[in-house]
Amino acid sequence: MNAIILLGPPGAGKGTQAARLAEALSVPHISTGAILRKAVEEGTELGRAAREIMEAGGLVSDRIVTGIVEERLAAADCGRGFILDGYPRNESQATALDEVLERLGAIGRILNIAVSHQELMARVRERRQQDGREDDKEDAFRRRLDVYETETQPLLDYYQDRVMPVCGLGSREEIYDRVMTVLTGRMAEVAAS
Ligand code: AMP
Repeated sequence: MNAIILLGPPGAGKGTQAARLAEALSVPHISTGAILRKAVEEGTELGRAAREIMEAGGLVSDRIVTGIVEERLAAADCGRGFILDGYPRNESQATALDEVLERLGAIGRILNIAVSHQELMARVRERRQQDGREDDKEDAFRRRLDVYETETQPLLDYYQDRVMPVCGLGSREEIYDRVMTVLTGRMAEVAAS
């Protein structure tokens, strides 16, 4: 099963890479951020609960997002695998995900797309002009970076040598090539062992 988990700071390009990978591997791209944004747009109960937190760049409660992920991964189209983008975001979500993967009999392959702080700030300035995401505004984005550093970055220690690092600098194509190289290299390693 292709259970691929993309880690990396906001603005690193996880969404873009996840979408391409999902298409190439014919598995669903599951973005908790996209699911939450849709709920906000539709004004559902979930959306109403998440809206303010998201706009301020904070994390929606673990209970809510883990519920979303558990439900989504139980769907039939995830049977051959999935790409997780934006989950887990902290250690409590990572342990919840470990349990879900174990139930599914899947081993997650973890990729970390690494991009410097300075580059992220430059990218988001550009993105702001294109898609006007509320949480890309200066204050919210800074908060998202802070939250990433305190909550999500420690997952690199949590997963330790299971993390496959990918340099997130350069064009989308360059990054995608690196992602593929890392994934296929690791697949060959697993097959040989
Ligand atoms: P993203 O599109 O992944 O950057 O997510 C946008 C926003 O959705 C985040 O800043 C959070 O407010 C919320 N969000 C997405 N995924 C999670 C998660 N795994 N845990 C908590 N909040 C999340």
